[in-house]
Amino acid sequence: MTALITLSIMGLVLGLGLAYAAEILKVEVDERLEAVTNFLPGLNCGACGFPGCAGFAEGVMDGDVEKLSDCKPGKDVHYDPIIEYLAEHPNPDGTLVKISK
Ligand code: SF4
Repeated sequence: MTALITLSIMGLVLGLGLAYAAEILKVEVDERLEAVTNFLPGLNCGACGFPGCAGFAEGVMDGDVEKLSDCKPGKDVHYDPIIEYLAEHPNPDGTLVKISK
C-alpha cells in the first residue's frame, strides 16, 4: 500500500513538473511564417539567397527581404497573396510588414 501511494505521489509530482516545464520552455511560433511560406513556389531552390522558401519567408517577416521578386521562380500569383495576407495580419505591435513586388 505504501509503494502505491509513493508511486502515485511521484507520478503526480513528475507530471506537474513536466507540465510546468512545457509551459516555460514552449517556443512561440509566428503562424504568419507558415502562411507566407505556403504562398511561395515551394521549390526550395535557394535562388533568393536564403536556405529554402521557409528561410525566405522568415527574411520577409524580419525585414531582410526588400522585394518579393527576389524569389526568382515566383510570379504575381505568389507575390500578391503575400502582400494581401501581410496587410491583413499586422505584427504584434500593430505595425505592418512592408514588402513590395
Ligand atoms: S527563390 Fe523562391 S522558390 Fe526558390 S527557395 Fe527562394 S523562395 Fe523558395
